[in-house]
Amino acid sequence: MLARLFRLHGLLVASHPWEVIVGTLALTVCLVSMNSLTAGSQMCSWNECPKVEEKIHSSDTIILTVTRCMAIVYIYFQFKNLRQLGSKYILGIAGLFTVFSSFVFSTVVIHFFGKELTVEPYGKVCSLLSCALAKFALSSNSQEEVRENISQGMAILGPTFTLDALVECLVIGIGTMSGVPQLEIMCCFGCMSVLANYFVFMTFFPACVSLVLELSRESREGRPIWQLSHFARVLAEEEDNKPNPVTQRVKIIMSLGLALVHAHTRLAAEHPNQNRSVEGPIAKKLDFGGTMWPMSMGLEQVITLSLALLLAVKYVFFEQTETESSFSLKSPIISSSPTQKPKVSGEYCRGDPVAPKPQKIMNGISVNNPTSPSVSELSPEADRTFRNKGARFLSDAEVMNLVTSRNILNYKLETVLETPERGVAIRREILSPKLPVPSALGCLPYKDYDYSKVMGTCCENVIGYMPLPVGVAGPLLLDEKQFYIPLATTEGCLVASTNRGCRALSLSGGCRSRILADSMTRGPVVRLPSACRAAEVKVWLETSDGFRLIKDAFDQTSRFARLEKLLVGLAGRNLYIRFQSQTGDAMGMNMLSKGTEQALHRLQQQHPDMEVLSLSGNYCTDKKSAAINWILGRGKSAVCEATIPANVVKEVKTSTTTALVELNINKNFVGSAMAGSVGGFNAHAANIVAAIYIACGQDPAQTVGSSNCITQMEPAGPQGEDLYISCTMPSIELGTVGGGTNLPPQQACLQMLGVQGTSQTHPGENARQLARIVCATVLAGELSLMAALAAGHLVKSHMTHNRWCISLLFCFGSKCNYFLSES
Ligand code: NAP
Repeated sequence: MLARLFRLHGLLVASHPWEVIVGTLALTVCLVSMNSLTAGSQMCSWNECPKVEEKIHSSDTIILTVTRCMAIVYIYFQFKNLRQLGSKYILGIAGLFTVFSSFVFSTVVIHFFGKELTVEPYGKVCSLLSCALAKFALSSNSQEEVRENISQGMAILGPTFTLDALVECLVIGIGTMSGVPQLEIMCCFGCMSVLANYFVFMTFFPACVSLVLELSRESREGRPIWQLSHFARVLAEEEDNKPNPVTQRVKIIMSLGLALVHAHTRLAAEHPNQNRSVEGPIAKKLDFGGTMWPMSMGLEQVITLSLALLLAVKYVFFEQTETESSFSLKSPIISSSPTQKPKVSGEYCRGDPVAPKPQKIMNGISVNNPTSPSVSELSPEADRTFRNKGARFLSDAEVMNLVTSRNILNYKLETVLETPERGVAIRREILSPKLPVPSALGCLPYKDYDYSKVMGTCCENVIGYMPLPVGVAGPLLLDEKQFYIPLATTEGCLVASTNRGCRALSLSGGCRSRILADSMTRGPVVRLPSACRAAEVKVWLETSDGFRLIKDAFDQTSRFARLEKLLVGLAGRNLYIRFQSQTGDAMGMNMLSKGTEQALHRLQQQHPDMEVLSLSGNYCTDKKSAAINWILGRGKSAVCEATIPANVVKEVKTSTTTALVELNINKNFVGSAMAGSVGGFNAHAANIVAAIYIACGQDPAQTVGSSNCITQMEPAGPQGEDLYISCTMPSIELGTVGGGTNLPPQQACLQMLGVQGTSQTHPGENARQLARIVCATVLAGELSLMAALAAGHLVKSHMTHNRWCISLLFCFGSKCNYFLSES
């Protein structure tokens, strides 16, 4: 009910900001004018405030000095807290309006009393709440939301603030009964200040926030200003931080008690015999006759000012660097649901400084690092925050300290902070000073990247992402369909050259492709006590019973992986078992590893004397050049062919069939044979494979095996002037599910090809289609480069005729020189 009232009030204020602001200012002006009218009357009603002219005792001075010092320390801590509430932006809004309003109202109040008081900004409590309210407002996406959020903020904060204001008034009001004249005046002023702040918070402040956000909505780069910050979950956070009901109850009971004390004092004050004397009981106790403590007002001011100066210097020069960054716009507070919170609370302990124990790590946080100096170096406040709320509420500097002392593990930063980008930023800050060029990471971007898809899957210890240019080649006419091929590369002319190949293929009616085989492999190595035992196990594995037993174990591990074949090699007492299975749309290495591990357990049960040396015995063979992949195939085996009419060879490829066929034999066959190549009977298949793999989220290291390719060229057609070209690639290791294919930009490239994710028809169809596309694009690339090389040869022989040398150079640009020099 109460919350509803406050909500309605908040909505009203936020919906009519102009009216509220003008009304508040008008009221202020009225009060100031009243002040001028009553200036001579020294209005002072509460407990008959004493006049300034009254004699000031040295005991009063001591009390006043202590009170002022306490107030300054209090303000200092309030300022520290202010920072933790949110960004500078929030702090600015709240601070500006609170200071402004406090100033206006304080001026009025001071003039009412006619006292020259040092302004004690009790209203900083109000600032804290103002910040919270501003955070509600900033989390909005539209003006309607601003209003709604301000009203919601008011519903949550209003009752608490009302109760706090009441308690503050009653507590400060106690000071009006102290008997110390100056203190009584200050306390009267304090009460008025609290009330003034309360009034501002309930009216002027929300109206201003609403108005400022409305006016600045399109402020920067045409984007709403709140989009510049990251307050998406502020509401949830504030709701999580609802006041403790027990505290609230204590406050209510306390305020009732205080109200009774005040009532009693007022009644007593009405009795003439019990009239308050100028020297109250406290004053009496502390008054040493004015002789022992000959304290002057000057000294009091010196003490107060020195303390204020000291704390201000500490705040500005020492606190700022430690606390600012984590709560600034750069690294905002982002809370999450309670279920996501790291289990830090209660788990972290400083440990025994005498007997160090081994570190215990939980959720990336050392919960028992007794020798760590840094934790003890944390301020008590930060230490408490770390233990109770988790690392995400600490400043960057504090988190870096904890990483250095290994209380937070570097690789777990993202998880511990619950804000991956902040984790990445802090890791960069830790790393930068250790680099030969400390500013080296400046040009490695890290912002605005979806790290949630990376964590635990694609990369660890992330310090950013590598932007690569992605070009497009095409259309590639393959099996009657057109494809536009994304190629991520930094090699100039690669995309242009492939594009020319695609054009030649399109002009030739396109190319055709087939998948010959589809199975991923994993080849562990196991050891038996003797070569004879190894031979026996080999025989057992090759029986249908043996195979079925192993297959049952293997197939349990995946919905898609189904063991098809075992190829067993023997070397002495070692057995090399090549597990072979389809893997649906995934490339399948993890799937194969899981299945193989399970199968080996089963095999070990059958043959207890068998020892598993390694899950991978290089018999797979993954990411290394190997004849086994070239001969037996791995992943997808594909073939693609095309016939290029003589005129296309001449005009587009600026070559002749004879020249191309001859070059293919001498370069791709004889040359590669001379080099002892395995699977490298091609011009540059790896160029295309790598560029597509990087663009489409494949494992780039698998370019090694996937680039196995033999390019063949023959004369074709009635006159033998047409060119028949084919590319056979037996080991294309790729997938459209899992690994890097889960990342949005890589998915975009797969979507360009219409093969992203799980295929709708049969599992594996998308991956097989991608393999066909890779093979066809390799064919286009082969055609283009071979033509360029052949043309280079012709250029030399035809230079004297000056025929199409110039146009050729235009076509290939600088790359032409490279190709010419290479040929
Ligand atoms: P994965 O992401 O580990 O496994 C694929 C997952 O997708 C499986 O959980 C699978 O389900 C599921 N899935 C859903 N729909 C599917 C579909 N239509 N077809 C196939 N699976 C589907 O991917 P992976 O291909 O096995 O492994 C790729 C990763 O392994 C890459 O990051 C690569 O860099 C890395 N890699 C690992 C090794 C190694 O030795 N472990 C070697 C080289 C590369 P199920 O759970 O039912 O199978």
